[in-house]
Amino acid sequence: CVASGSLDIAAALKEATKDIKAEVTFIEDGCKSIAVKTSGCHGFCAMGPLVRIEPLGVLYTKVTVDDVEEIVETTIKKGEIIERLAYKHPVSGEIYPIEKEIPFYKNQTRIGLMNCGVIDPEDLEEYLARDGYQAIAKALTMSQQEVVDIIKASGLRGRGGGGFPTGLKWQFALDEEREQKYVICNGDEGDPGAFMDRSIMEGDPHKVIEGLMIAGYATGADTGYIYVRAEYPLAVKRLKKAISDAQAYGLLGENILGTDFSFKVIIKEGAGAFVCGEETALMASIEGERGMPRPKPPFPAQRGLWGCPTTINNVETLANVPNIILKGADWFRKLGTENSPGTKTFAITGDVANTGLIEVPMGLTLREVIYDVGGGIKDNKKFKAVQIGGPSGGCLTEEHLDLTLDFDSLSQVGAMIGSGGLVVMDEDTCIVEVARFFMEFTQNESCGKCVLCREGTKRMLEILQRIVDGKGELKDIEKLEDIASAVKDGSLCGLGKTAPNPVLTTLKYFRDEYIAHVVDKK
Ligand code: SF4
Repeated sequence: CVASGSLDIAAALKEATKDIKAEVTFIEDGCKSIAVKTSGCHGFCAMGPLVRIEPLGVLYTKVTVDDVEEIVETTIKKGEIIERLAYKHPVSGEIYPIEKEIPFYKNQTRIGLMNCGVIDPEDLEEYLARDGYQAIAKALTMSQQEVVDIIKASGLRGRGGGGFPTGLKWQFALDEEREQKYVICNGDEGDPGAFMDRSIMEGDPHKVIEGLMIAGYATGADTGYIYVRAEYPLAVKRLKKAISDAQAYGLLGENILGTDFSFKVIIKEGAGAFVCGEETALMASIEGERGMPRPKPPFPAQRGLWGCPTTINNVETLANVPNIILKGADWFRKLGTENSPGTKTFAITGDVANTGLIEVPMGLTLREVIYDVGGGIKDNKKFKAVQIGGPSGGCLTEEHLDLTLDFDSLSQVGAMIGSGGLVVMDEDTCIVEVARFFMEFTQNESCGKCVLCREGTKRMLEILQRIVDGKGELKDIEKLEDIASAVKDGSLCGLGKTAPNPVLTTLKYFRDEYIAHVVDKK
């Protein structure tokens, strides 16, 4: 939205509304003025820049500065809808002027994203007005074990990709009898096409800080790090402002809310290495070392940052925590599936009509996500495949459209939910080129510590390039499979272990395309 001129639109709206007072017809008695506010990301990227008008609940899409005058005269002054700015469904052609009725939003359940696109992320009072810092206040009236027990009972699993039970992770750290402990928020999101963590950090930074504080209190840590990649400068800026505002309000620092809990938050900017999303590499990076994974055990909960017990949670995981503490484990369990409760954010991109950021209950099918929320395939083309879980995930086909999206069902077909990247591909996509693209990414990002990851991904990339260039042979396909399983088995960390997934799943479901490239030499 910013790239498409949203800040100019906000400035023009401020200018055009500055003298409007009680003459506005739709505003109820008592409202005497209009405020123009900027917010974090609404998620509806395909339709930006967006302008929402409250209390009407109207959402205008693809707005330009030239539309501002009409918005003010027609909607703000008279309460009438401008149809050409309302969302039009790409298939039915139906017009949806009210945000909550647009299928893209109607089919979502927002917990992690609940404040994104709603509050001004740089205004602490707006966060406080939406129950901000109430969860830490409640947690501080409970014992550490009680807080851990709620998270365990909720069934919350890590949203960064692994899906490990968060409560169990917290229990391991709580059980360590050491004076110094740390908690870390992993904001080193690096999957191509994924921007869930970025949106949460930019759109609701206090939520991340509050989740981290609760993790710190529950596990006995007095210091929290937020590891953010330096390519996210707006996230860094807003987190820094949020930390200083929270400190000024006495919500961070010594004796928080009159208790003996003290907590500080430090931002660490990563240099953008994909492997630093791996927790041991991330800790090495915080310590000032080169970001390289190390073998586990010891696990971070026993020996983490500077040798101290450390709990590492992803941004989205932590953004779920305040609501769970406030509303309870049972409330959370009502969403999603038995083994994957709650919701999941996905960055849905590629050849789908409604690209953007979405949050849906776990257990929705791929078809529901791509067609009901995503609006189907662009230009009425045919669906071909979806790459789920980024470069570590897998490529699924039409036969998987009715598969439910949760941690367990995806692993059964060789894919993974990963951090939540969903790249949708239409019938014109070359699947071998897709596999080559992801292999190039992981090959570039391999830290080089293990031979099989360092050399194996390079050889795989060479073979894929040969096949894409029409210079491959049938024996290359077998060689690709051999090396892929060796890289999977012989790599130290998740990057190497999952790097062959896009190749293996495309070979499994689209082998004919590989063969056609080799036989037809194109
Ligand atoms: Fe580095 Fe790859 Fe080994 Fe991971 S698997 S430690 S990225 S070389």
